[in-house]
Amino acid sequence: MTSAISIAREVASGATSAEAQLEKSLEAIAARNDELNVFLYLDEEGARAQARAVDEKVRAGEPVGPLAGVPIALKDNLCQRGVPTTCSSRILEGWRPPYSATVVERVLAAGAVAVGKTNLDEFAMGSSTETSAFGPTRNPLDPSRVPGGSSGGSAAAVAAQMTTISLGSDTGGSIRQPAALCGLVGMKPTYGLVSRYGLIAFSSSLDQIGPFAANVADAALLLEVIAGHDPKDSTSLPEPSPSLLAHVNDGVAGKRVGVVRELIEGADDEVVAAVNAAVAVLRDAGAEIVELSIPETRLGLSAYYLLAPAEASSNLARFDGVRYGLRVDAEDVTAMNEATRTLGFGAEVKRRIMLGTYALSAGYYDAYYGQALKVRTQMIHAFREAYQKVDFLIGATTPSVAFKFGEKSDNPMAMYLSDVFTIPTNLAGEAAVSVPFGHGASGLPIGVQLLGPGRSEAMLFAGARVLEVAEGR
Ligand code: GLN
Repeated sequence: MTSAISIAREVASGATSAEAQLEKSLEAIAARNDELNVFLYLDEEGARAQARAVDEKVRAGEPVGPLAGVPIALKDNLCQRGVPTTCSSRILEGWRPPYSATVVERVLAAGAVAVGKTNLDEFAMGSSTETSAFGPTRNPLDPSRVPGGSSGGSAAAVAAQMTTISLGSDTGGSIRQPAALCGLVGMKPTYGLVSRYGLIAFSSSLDQIGPFAANVADAALLLEVIAGHDPKDSTSLPEPSPSLLAHVNDGVAGKRVGVVRELIEGADDEVVAAVNAAVAVLRDAGAEIVELSIPETRLGLSAYYLLAPAEASSNLARFDGVRYGLRVDAEDVTAMNEATRTLGFGAEVKRRIMLGTYALSAGYYDAYYGQALKVRTQMIHAFREAYQKVDFLIGATTPSVAFKFGEKSDNPMAMYLSDVFTIPTNLAGEAAVSVPFGHGASGLPIGVQLLGPGRSEAMLFAGARVLEVAEGR
C-alpha cells in the first residue's frame, strides 16, 4: 500500500491529486463496508470539499501540509463539527457536535482528508467492537474474527486499505490491541502528549488519542501532527510536538532493552515465540538484552477495572436525556433520566457504570477505589525503577492473535484479559507501541509491544522500525 508520506509528497508535487486519492478510498469503502461494518458515517461531501481545497492550494503553488491529500478515518468518539458522533451508543443518536476535537483540526490543517467515523465498542468499553450498538466490525484479514477493540473500526479501515491512516483512543489498550490483531502499527502516547479536547471521555486519567498506520514512519508522522500543547486541554503537556519522523531510523545500537517476564506469561506459544524472535533481532541490531521481572504489572488489570469504571460512571453521568442525543419522555425528570439511560446504554456500559458507582460508594471507597489508586502508584514506581536499568521494555501486545466472534463476548473476564499486557502503560501514563512481527499458525499477524517511559516515543518508533526492517518492510 502506498504510504501516507509518499501520498502527501505526490499530492504536493502534483503527481497525484487529493481528489484522486479520495476516490480510491471511497471505492475501497464501497467494496467492503457492508461486509466489514467499518464506517458508521461517511462524510463524502465534507471529504470532497477538503480534497478540493488541498488540490486548489497545490495548483496555486501554496504550501500544503505533511498529510496533504491523505485519507484518514476517525474513531467515532472524536468530535468533528457538524458530523454525527455516536461513540457507538444509542444514547448519542442524532447528536452533531458543535465543535471539532483538536486532533481533528490538526490533521485537517495538515492536509489530511477525513472520510468518516469508524465503529468502536460502545463508549470504547471493550476489546472486540462487539459491544457497539451498531453491530461489530469484522477483521479484514479474516472476517470470521474480531478486529480487536475498542478502536476496531479505525484499525480495520487501514487494514482494509479504506484509508491510509486513522486515529483511535487507548484507555487500556484500545489502539495497541486492535493494531496487533489487524497487523498494523499503533501507538499509545505519553499521557498529555496529545490533546484530548473533543474526545468523548471514558476514563480521563487514562485516555489518550493515538495513531494507526500500516508502517512505522506513517505512525510517527501522524503522531507528530497531532501532538503538542493545546491550551484547551488542561492535562496537555506544556511543550511543542516532539520530532519523531526524523528519528525513525535511529536504530537501537547501545540501547538496553528489558524483556519483561510478566508481559509475556500466559500468552499463546506462537506469541511468545514472536516476542523471542523480536528480542533476537534487537540484540543483532546492537541492543543489550536484560531479563526483567515487574511483578506489579500483574495487578494492573484489577486496578484498571476499578479506576476506569469509577471514572466512567462519573463521565457518563452527563448523558441524561437533557443535553445530548436520545431522550425517552416520561412523567418527570427522574423517570425521563432513567428511561433514557435504560434504553440508551448497552449491557457493557451499564456493567461499567454499576462497577464504578459501587467502587466509589461510601463504605467501599477506601477498599476499592483507594486501594486501586495505591496499586497504580506502585506500578508507577516499579516502571520508574525498571527504566533506571534499561531504556525500554519489550513484551507481547496481546495474549493471542485475532479471536473469533462470540469467543469471549459472554465472558467479561476472558474479554478483559485481552488487555492484560497493555493496561500497565495506561496506569503509568507512559508510552507504548505495537508493531506487527511474525504470524501465527492461522496466518494472522502477531503484535510485539515496546514500552518506554514518558516522552520516549521517538525511541520506541526507532525500535519498532528495526523490527519492521527485519521483516523486509
Ligand atoms: N478493553 C479495555 C476496556 O474495555 C480498554 C478499552 C480502551 O482502551 N478504550 O476497558
